[in-house]
Formats: sequence, C-alpha cells, structure tokens
Amino acid sequence: MSYEYKWPIYGHKNLLNFLQETISQNKLANTYLFYGPRGLGKKLTVKYFAKSLFCEDKHLRPCGKCQSCRLTDKNSFLDLYTLGKDQELSAENIREFLHKLSLSNVSGDKKLAIIYGIDTINLYGANALLKTLEEPPRNTTIILVADSLANLPATVMSRCQLLKFTPLKLEDMKQWLENYNLSELEKETIINLSFGRPGIALNMMGDDLENFKKSCNFIVKLLSGSTFYFMQTIDKWFSLLKKENPGAKLYELGALTGQYLDLFEIFLRDLLWVKLNRPVVNTLYETEIKNMASSFSKEILLENLLKINIAKQKIKHNVSPQILWENLLLSVK
Ligand SMILES: [Zn+2]
Repeated sequence: MSYEYKWPIYGHKNLLNFLQETISQNKLANTYLFYGPRGLGKKLTVKYFAKSLFCEDKHLRPCGKCQSCRLTDKNSFLDLYTLGKDQELSAENIREFLHKLSLSNVSGDKKLAIIYGIDTINLYGANALLKTLEEPPRNTTIILVADSLANLPATVMSRCQLLKFTPLKLEDMKQWLENYNLSELEKETIINLSFGRPGIALNMMGDDLENFKKSCNFIVKLLSGSTFYFMQTIDKWFSLLKKENPGAKLYELGALTGQYLDLFEIFLRDLLWVKLNRPVVNTLYETEIKNMASSFSKEILLENLLKINIAKQKIKHNVSPQILWENLLLSVK
C-alpha cells in the first residue's frame, strides 16, 4: 500500500523516505536506533513514524483525525509503549517495561516500543534489553533513541538498524524558518547560531527572540561594564538564582548558567572575529560587538576562549559557578 505522507519535519530527506517506505511496504525491522545530537528532530520523527504506522487512513498518513491518530497523540494508543520520556532508565524500569511489552497482546497488527535517552542506560539495563533484542516479542518493533553512541554498548548497537540524524543543510534551515515571522537579520543570526539544529533554534526563538535578546544584552553589559559593575551584577545574579532555587547544589546552579556560558563564548569568538576582519555570527549584535572590540586584545580573547572550555567542564562538577564567572570576567578585562 502506498500512502501519501505529511510529516512537518525539515531535512533528513533520505531517512524520512526510508521510514515511510518501510510503513508503506510493511517491512519494519525489529529494532531501530535513531541517533544524533539533540535538537535535530529525532523525537518528532519518532512521533510521526508512530502516528503514520497506526493511522487508519487509506491515503494520508498520519491523517490526524482517526481514533488511532488521536490516541497516539495522547500517548494512550494500546499498541504504543514508551519509556524514558519522564522516567529514569534504571535497570528496574527497563525490566518492568520489557516485561509488560512481552506479556501484552497486540490489539492491531503491531506493537511499537520506544525507549528515549537510551544512551543513559547502565550495564544492567543494557543486559536486560539485550535479551529482548535477541528474541524480540512477536509483532513488535522497538525504536531506541540516543543523542550519542559514545556510552552505548556495542552489543546493543549491533542488534539495531542504525539511523543517523545529521544537522540540517542551510537550505533546509532557511525553508523551515520561512514558517516564522522573523526579520532577515534575525533569521541569519538564528542560522549562524543553531548549527543546523532546529531544536536549538527553537530554544533561541521562544517568545519572539525576547529571551535570546535579553541574554545577549546581559552579556554585553557584563563585557562592557567596569570591574565593579560586573562583580556587583554577578553577585546579584547568583543571589537571585539561589533564592529561586533553594537548596540547589553547586553544579545545579552552574547548569542554570550554562547557556549564558555558551553565549559568552559566542561573544568572545565574535569579538575575535572582528579583530581578524571576519564576519560575526551573532549578526543581530554586530554593532555592539564592533563597538566593544577595541577594548579587547586578540591574545586575551584567544586565551579566554580556551578558559571557557575548561570552565564548561568545571561547571558540571561541584565548583562554585559564581567564582568561575568572576574569574572568567576578571581575566577578560
Ligand atoms: Zn489517522
């Protein structure tokens, strides 16, 4: 049966065609492993794959109207099993999930089991999963989703059909951004800063880019203000973070400042780019960056870009993020 497919997913053309063909021809593999960095559309693809698989429409998949489509949307379709969206992938949770999967009857033609975040699985969980992958329950397809393959046991990987998600091409990003009401300059900045990952772009774009602009203004103020000013600002910032997150551990506070650290790095790199007569990536803030550039030397910028990388590692551990930020800013000045 050949269906028409309507998936609002940009890029990944061959991969999507392949998945759609497997539904049309009813030739599903036992296990797929969707992998690739965050923000590329893996979850969205899983969602549309599941909906299209269970949809009852004879022509359009998914139709979005039939009962299966509606139940799949609510994650309450009987033949659809998911794990790892809100639950930890402990060995116990995996065992329980697989047990349920093996005991349940299929109400339609096929069961689909999806496990998200499979790269966070531990050895015991992996062993439990391996048994199921070796002897999959009847009429069952399993999709494993991972941001990275680094921590996945080879024994698990070798039993999956691997589907790799890669960053979107410039043309696909442009086409996707046509759906949003943005200025050309804003689009350019988003394309430059999201590295072909719509998920990252969406994070930036939330609330008409207001949050992104607010964060950028904050970094500009830190970089252009006096030493006294930024010490005071950082102090206020962390008092507020501590108040809003009572009892947060140091690394948790650090994680809250992580995206600012990424942005700080982008600003430093852009400042260096201006020094080297190269185009900035954060085009929305080109004027501010060019104005600030004369206050920094190439050597200092380069040195601090290296320091940020170290800071990014440290911030994940129990190092005071406030001291880390103060040191970073002091050494840039
Ligand atoms: Zn449908």
